[in-house]
Amino acid sequence: MSDSISYISTRGDSSVLSFKDVIFEGLAPDGGLYVPKYWPTIDNEKIESFSAMTYQQIAYEVISLFVDDSIGEENLKNIINTSYSSFSNKEITPIRKISDNHYLLELFHGPTYAFKDVAMQFIGNVMDFYLSRSNQSINVLGATSGDTGAAAIEGFKSVSNCKIFILHPHNKISVVQKKFMTTVNSKNVHNIAINGTFDDCQRIIKNIFNDIDFKKEQKLTAVNSINWIRIMCQIVYYFYASSRVNENNKNILFSVPTGNFGDILAGYISKKMGLKIGKLNIATNDNDVLTRTLNTGKHYKKDVKATSSPSIDIQISSNFERLLYDVTKDSKFVLDKMTELETVGKYTLPASIIDIIKLSFTSNSVSEEEVSNLIREYATEYNIILDPHTAVGIASAKKCDSDFDILVSLATAHPAKFKETISSIIENEDFVPDKIKKMMTLEDKLSILDNDTNKVKNFLKDNI
Ligand SMILES: *Cc1c(COP(=O)(O)O)cnc(C)c1O
Repeated sequence: MSDSISYISTRGDSSVLSFKDVIFEGLAPDGGLYVPKYWPTIDNEKIESFSAMTYQQIAYEVISLFVDDSIGEENLKNIINTSYSSFSNKEITPIRKISDNHYLLELFHGPTYAFKDVAMQFIGNVMDFYLSRSNQSINVLGATSGDTGAAAIEGFKSVSNCKIFILHPHNKISVVQKKFMTTVNSKNVHNIAINGTFDDCQRIIKNIFNDIDFKKEQKLTAVNSINWIRIMCQIVYYFYASSRVNENNKNILFSVPTGNFGDILAGYISKKMGLKIGKLNIATNDNDVLTRTLNTGKHYKKDVKATSSPSIDIQISSNFERLLYDVTKDSKFVLDKMTELETVGKYTLPASIIDIIKLSFTSNSVSEEEVSNLIREYATEYNIILDPHTAVGIASAKKCDSDFDILVSLATAHPAKFKETISSIIENEDFVPDKIKKMMTLEDKLSILDNDTNKVKNFLKDNI
């Protein structure tokens, strides 16, 4: 446990928060994101000892540095062990060797078969710990176009003193993704299908959170992608991966399919904490806002283009703000840039800042054709079925011009989650686990509501 850890906003708000506050607050009052005041570090000797530790032991070593004494060593160990007992592989995030210098880091062995489980399982358990201790209750509200909602529902389905309400656009998400959310059998889970689009769902959520009195009365909280705890949990698997593949301090390139910049930011932080790794490749599809930013210094949104890797079809990469704060340590600068982004939809970074970012990152975007070719290549050459996001990561790394000895590609989802896409590219239909086949036969539990904020508010009141 750390007695010196505290958290501040990236945009200059003067409050200093504890670990517990950061979990429950989410966004800072000035619109900024919370970051630790200083990065804790781990010395070389300790990092070397990780090769003999389990995932859970490494998780304790890393996470305890971000947690104050409001939890306690035994409790934190229990929370970690409970969180990862829901994973189907005992290594939690196993490393799979593909060739001499290429490894897959499989992050999809959690209950919803995508990497978001790594953080959501922990968040559910740590909130459960604080709520049951203080005998308080909260209600989680969110909107999803796919993976996040399912991972949140699995993370919160057994949390006492908590109900979870997840909105999704009715009939506009994949059948597999819907089944992951609507077949969970738990009294505190409420799926709301909105007759509208994902943007409508987000607008309703925003309206509800903007009604401060209602939010307070109903004890509503969000667990979205900017929550610090999600990043923190993801740092662990960079240490884990490195401990499993890196015998002689070789130069590792991590390639990460990137949307909201949370997953890859965790890799950058592991480096700040002392892990010896090379660069991190920001892998993007046709939605290449970050690739363009690194190449030109100009950050501007285009329309979102739908691709075969929908979880990274994003034009606003929220966690990039945390990187900008870290490289400048200038909250005024961050506030100015984020205000420009909100008001005129773009900002420019000076070359000096891009140069610093490029010391740790590269970025390459790939086309739909490159993704399907890669999926085909891996199926025939290695007999490995990749999900489309993982394929973006690998195809993008192929374009990297920086040096590395070992490539670790993050496999962020199981291919069965994107079965229709995969089956349209390769003949093999044999990759769907029995658990998912069985789930597809279960009945949906959901409430269908009009695209209307007041209807959703009434639903919340009736069910809280
Ligand atoms: C969420 C998600 C990503 C993107 O992660 P970020 O942290 O948003 O960059 C990549 N792949 C899959 C399968 C995801 O669900």
